[in-house]
Amino acid sequence: MNPFHSLKLSDPLLRALESKSYKTPTPIQVQAIPPTLAGHDILGCAQTGTGKTAAFALPILQRLDKHVPHRHGRTSHPRALIIAPTRELAQQIVNSFGEYGRYTTLRATAVYGGVGLFQQTRILQNGIDILVATPGRLMDLMEQKYVSLQSVEVLVLDEADRLLDMGFIEPIRFIASQIRRERQTLLFSATMPREILHLANALQRDPVEVRVAPTEANIPKIEQSVYVVHSKVQKEKLLEHMLVKGGMNRVIIFTKTKHGADRLCKGLRSVGVASEAIHGNKVQGQRDRALARFKTGQSQILVATDVAARGLDVDGITHVIQFDLPRDPEAYIHRIGRTGRAGATGIAIAFCEPGDRGSLRNVERLIGQRVPVAPMPAVLERIQDREPVATIETPRYEIQPRPQSHAHGHSNTHAHGHASTHTPSHSNTHNREHGHSRSNSFEHKPSRTRGKFPRHARHR
Ligand code: AMP
Repeated sequence: MNPFHSLKLSDPLLRALESKSYKTPTPIQVQAIPPTLAGHDILGCAQTGTGKTAAFALPILQRLDKHVPHRHGRTSHPRALIIAPTRELAQQIVNSFGEYGRYTTLRATAVYGGVGLFQQTRILQNGIDILVATPGRLMDLMEQKYVSLQSVEVLVLDEADRLLDMGFIEPIRFIASQIRRERQTLLFSATMPREILHLANALQRDPVEVRVAPTEANIPKIEQSVYVVHSKVQKEKLLEHMLVKGGMNRVIIFTKTKHGADRLCKGLRSVGVASEAIHGNKVQGQRDRALARFKTGQSQILVATDVAARGLDVDGITHVIQFDLPRDPEAYIHRIGRTGRAGATGIAIAFCEPGDRGSLRNVERLIGQRVPVAPMPAVLERIQDREPVATIETPRYEIQPRPQSHAHGHSNTHAHGHASTHTPSHSNTHNREHGHSRSNSFEHKPSRTRGKFPRHARHR
């Protein structure tokens, strides 16, 4: 018997699952589908990649499919509303509804910002059953009376932690206040900080809690490793070293901050590596262009913050580099999940600075395994010995000029060629070096090395 039968799903849905060749329900589906079908609120701790979209989409489709209004009776009043943090995720969710609901007559659409209103309002006016929306665009459409939430029976908040991180708490409260109280509310989040529990408390009634612990089984085929580094400068050199070595076709690099993402992207471009940055400060058009360049291979590297990378589904990412380790250990799992998708293998590399040791331990506790420590390339080890982070704060070049060894000269071309070739003897020059060491080493290069990344590679 098809294992999905035991979940009491209707025939049109079982047929759709069959055509998707799903053999067995995932753990989140086993846990969430029966109580959702029974009408309970759900508080689900699960991340993307666990099959959580089907866990809420299937019961919603089944519920709405019982009473489909006549074609002409359909209005722009959705009966199910799914709120998602990003346009990309909204699009993915509506695609899933389309696939799981292909043997029903239900209509789903997605609305999100960054694109014109007109087409979205036309689709709404033709009548819909299921609306997937980002909060900002939904508020606009509500204000302009293109959509009303008076008929919503089921509200879903997907990736609630991201919604909160992105500052959508007030819009969400407002949106929920426009929906009748006897609705069903499903809330999914990869993490469960206190703010999420408060929100759940405010919006839900006696929810059934389901949790899929991220386990090794959820992150298959990803080869993980961590480099223990001493400083930001060493991280930059290590990254440069890896890119020079080659074999990295499509790379996503995570940074902690938007500013850090921009700086790294700029630095990579300045040494001739085609890179794009996406983060929350970029407008939709810029994000689309960056993603398109990355997807088509025009850019080898995408530098991203966590928020921007949420829901990102790009095939063929060979490497994920965590230039900064995240404070939240679950973000580590989410990040490495960008590679190794759809049965492919992937490589996930993290850089761990001294201040990140605690974060690394938390990650290891969460995934229940040690992340293997990769040996530092010899050429960088020597730099590490000469340039431990503390000495960056001292006028070391005045005290102890560095010897000009071969390896030394090459490895320092980017970060320290300037200072080391002109041993500074006055404080102004030292200050330049000082600022230089603490900022992105890619940025302060002598002009003769700019744009010569591949040639630099040939020296090795
Ligand atoms: P999600 O966590 O909803 O983003 O789903 C992650 C991926 O798993 C998607 O590509 C789904 O198509 C796929 N998926 C969901 N449920 C199942 C299942 N029961 N069996 C096989 N694949 C599934």
